[in-house]
Amino acid sequence: MKYEELCKIYERLEATSSRLDKTEILANFLHKLKKEKNKEIIYLLRGSVFPDYSQKEVGISAQLAIKAISKATGIPAEDVVEEWKKSGDLGKTAEKLVKKKKQITLFQKELTTEKVLENLRKAAELEGPGTIEKKISLLAELLSAAKPIEARYLIRTVLGELRVGTGEGIMRDAITWACFGREKAKEYVASVEAAYDKANDFAAVFEAACHGVKKLEEIMLVPGKPVKVMLALKAKNIADAFEQVGKPAAFEFKYDGFRMMLNKSEDGKITIFTRRLEDVTKQFPEVVEYVKKYIKAKSFIIDSEAVGYSPRTKKYRPFQEISQRIKRKYDIEKLSKELPVEVNVFDIIYYNGKSLLNEPFRKRSELLRKIVKGKKLELKPAEQLITDSESKAESFFRKALKAGHEGLMAKNLDAPYKPGARVGYMLKIKPEEKEFDLVIVGAEYGTGKRGGWLSSFVIACRDEKTGNFLEVGKVGTGIKEKQEVGLSFDELTKMLKPLIVEEHGRDVRIKPKIVVTVVYQNIQKSPKYASGFALRFPRITRLRPDRSPSDIATLSEIREEWEKETGRKKS
Ligand code: AMP
Repeated sequence: MKYEELCKIYERLEATSSRLDKTEILANFLHKLKKEKNKEIIYLLRGSVFPDYSQKEVGISAQLAIKAISKATGIPAEDVVEEWKKSGDLGKTAEKLVKKKKQITLFQKELTTEKVLENLRKAAELEGPGTIEKKISLLAELLSAAKPIEARYLIRTVLGELRVGTGEGIMRDAITWACFGREKAKEYVASVEAAYDKANDFAAVFEAACHGVKKLEEIMLVPGKPVKVMLALKAKNIADAFEQVGKPAAFEFKYDGFRMMLNKSEDGKITIFTRRLEDVTKQFPEVVEYVKKYIKAKSFIIDSEAVGYSPRTKKYRPFQEISQRIKRKYDIEKLSKELPVEVNVFDIIYYNGKSLLNEPFRKRSELLRKIVKGKKLELKPAEQLITDSESKAESFFRKALKAGHEGLMAKNLDAPYKPGARVGYMLKIKPEEKEFDLVIVGAEYGTGKRGGWLSSFVIACRDEKTGNFLEVGKVGTGIKEKQEVGLSFDELTKMLKPLIVEEHGRDVRIKPKIVVTVVYQNIQKSPKYASGFALRFPRITRLRPDRSPSDIATLSEIREEWEKETGRKKS
């Protein structure tokens, strides 16, 4: 297909903000694409050259794109930059400069979508010495053949700035309209969506949809390829959970970590994906070992939550403290020792060559527990209680909180697994949020866009016996970056700066004057803070200028709340 034809579609998509118009433009285009052999052109519609599940990137920065524009047009890079400064849009700059040059070029080769896919994919695969030069050449080759409008969209595509509004929902609707007709969209859209949630690949879904709904339904899970995870809804409390998922129900600890999809493909290869479909296998070598050691099956896709713990005390730690493991690319072995994770498996959706999506949770969970021989602090099935008793579920809830977890998940025993869907087959139950008035006794200067502001605040309660202020945590959320509604960093910084009594690098100590209301989820014992307690998930909700530090929450009030929460004292 001519690339120009696609660029005209981009232009039309860009010109309208109406969802229906966009869907119609796309559906008409897809209707034409049905006849093309190569359905992968659909990736270009989304501003990519790979399916959504892929981690590959073209890897061309604005700096490289400038060099390529210069190479293709013969215009010095400094002049390209000058032009770019004027328009602020490198795509427009490329369009203008290509136009200038084209006036004197007679011969012009037609650019095709296939050629664009080919060159940009080649660029993504390059490695080693000479990569940069080769990337520039691949893009310059395309730009040399490009018409001005093609240059505009080519540059936007490589920079990841296409932004023509072809989100997942619109693509799903357009495929449904193109393959089943707009009138019948309601009937078929769920099949298209379900297929996409399994495949995460619009070319595969479109190809199947072209051959009818049966082919769509045949789209299978493939271990080793990421699939979207099923999401949870909320329940107010245990009684509400039973109401929503029925009796009996499965209750499981809700671990405060991050989702991990553990895959073993037919060839024995292990891959780990996050809920955002990122491949994090390399970042978690110890988890790969646990999977090999503790899960006995030829192939599978197992859903789990990895939760961090302290290697010293073996206590669980909140997600924020281990989140760096997901992104880290170096010192991985060292980090895996410092920030170890325990993997809690809770569902299985593919086993020895078969999809289990439509099996009831009861069966999936039983199978999982049969094939996983677990070990604490390494990999094990999530703590589970199947019951129809409210009081048993309540005490299980308290047990979870006492062990340092966020709460419980309640699961419908008869439900299938719906990838990507936020359905009521799985509910989260957390303790009600509570609040304390506390005083700010310290802070930390922010970095990046919070540079210059105090952006993280140490909060304290009052020890009623000594009158001292004792720290109960650190809070950076609840405050706005801009002064629109509520409390802003700017405002708080201005109030706190005159009260600074000591500075150590970015940390400052602050005279206890400013009282704030802090909402939190639960309280944990913590040796890190002088009070011996830490508020979990704290959020500042407002200033309390009407309160003095002598009015704030006392240490014994905090201890009492903790006792209530952990069942040491009846509420
Ligand atoms: P939330 O992120 O607050 O919507 O809560 C749902 C999340 O809890 C899931 O996406 C999982 O990452 C996590 N989770 C922790 N433990 C479990 C469990 N036993 N079953 C299902 N999800 C869990």
